[in-house]
Amino acid sequence: LKKYFPVRGAFGRLGKTLAEVKAVDDISFNLYKGETYGLVGESGCGKSTAGRSILHLTEPTSGHVFYNDKDIFSLSDNEMRKLRTELQMVFQDPFSSLNPRKRIGDILEEPLAIHDRGSKAERRNLVLEMLEKVGMQREHYYRYPHEFSGGQRQRIGIARALILNPNVLILDEPVSALDVSIQSQMLNLLKDLQKEYQLTYLFIAHDMSVVRHISDRIGVMYLGHLVEEANTDQLFDSPLHPYTEALLSAVPVADNKKKKDRIVIKGEVPSPMDPPSGCVFHTRCPYVMDICKTVTPKKREKDEGHFVACHLYEE
Ligand code: SF4
Ligand code: MG
Repeated sequence: LKKYFPVRGAFGRLGKTLAEVKAVDDISFNLYKGETYGLVGESGCGKSTAGRSILHLTEPTSGHVFYNDKDIFSLSDNEMRKLRTELQMVFQDPFSSLNPRKRIGDILEEPLAIHDRGSKAERRNLVLEMLEKVGMQREHYYRYPHEFSGGQRQRIGIARALILNPNVLILDEPVSALDVSIQSQMLNLLKDLQKEYQLTYLFIAHDMSVVRHISDRIGVMYLGHLVEEANTDQLFDSPLHPYTEALLSAVPVADNKKKKDRIVIKGEVPSPMDPPSGCVFHTRCPYVMDICKTVTPKKREKDEGHFVACHLYEE
């Protein structure tokens, strides 16, 4: 999957070629039924764009997304509308997408009405039930979005995503805006709902400890590239990519024996408009070799299920 954004105006190069931001640059991964796949990386690494492209909320530049072997991008509008009920998105700040003049009950009922699910009374019951499932109260049906805290609004956002009984949720930084004390409540709620409704999650976040708490597998993104992918324990116990090592060095570890030599990366993330040649991490990598500056490393399976794109691991 690739998503390049054209950049106009001041940044546009002279002549015919406009500058572009390579937000997602040739990533590929599987999302298995019932799992939580954590997509992690610093802000601007392309993880949100990847999530939005998968749902076709933004038009990808090239690539494919297969859902149950069907190529999503080749579906008709009608088929896509149907599929949208199976794949739902939860955003960091649900408040901006909750109509302030509508009651919570009406907000949650709207998707059901649009998709013609059940009678008015059945829809109302479904909404009341869903409010309870996400830890809200039935009385909240009559309240307005501004009457709720950030955590409660995220519960409402989750309820809205679940109301059509989807199979897959793409959760884009769903706890990042919340107090740390509320984050783990929300992660536990998501885990419970996953079990109850047999959901598959693509969980996008920048916080390694949050991702560790909820994910079965993790993909690490840097500057539009997927640089490492592994089971959660594998990734935390034996990270392979120097960038992953650096991310983990910043996470406090309880077990001192596991504490690795800290690796610290220097400098800023380069602009995705002008990404480094070869390995996109080479300008900051403490292990950089000559080959890294010209040849883009390919993703390869180092141990079972453990993929890495780095010249250090090539034969
Ligand atoms: Fe570092 Fe080279 Fe590996 Fe890139 S390919 S992460 S520059 S060692
Ligand atoms: Mg983002």
